[in-house]
Amino acid sequence: MYRKPGLDVIEAQRLCRDVCGALCCQGPQVLVLSADEAIAMRAHASRLEIELVLHARDDGGASLRFPDHEGDRCPMLDTRDACRIYDTRPTRCRAFPEGPRPGCVISSDEP
Ligand code: SF4
Ligand code: SF4
Repeated sequence: MYRKPGLDVIEAQRLCRDVCGALCCQGPQVLVLSADEAIAMRAHASRLEIELVLHARDDGGASLRFPDHEGDRCPMLDTRDACRIYDTRPTRCRAFPEGPRPGCVISSDEP
């Protein structure tokens, strides 16, 4: 994850939730999971009693399509726009953004 210089992880998490509204975690998007991440995601969903729809991929992983879930949101996103599994979120979620991206408040001041 790239963050603006001087921005710590806790504040970045707050900005994602309270200012951006967790735009990355909703909309017509697909989160690609490795095989291990798909297993972990199923376990999280079972523990949290969340309905989860995954689509198998040829590489053994799975695709999590947000539009398969209520509100076109990742099912791990709670009603306050916080990730319920933040500390163990998938690699793709950890990596984004890779650099400054306009419109992303934790990585850029550009609208
Ligand atoms: S797992 Fe968490 S960080 Fe990743 S898309 Fe879902 S809510 Fe967002
Ligand atoms: S677009 Fe940027 S600020 Fe918004 S949720 Fe994604 S990483 Fe956070």
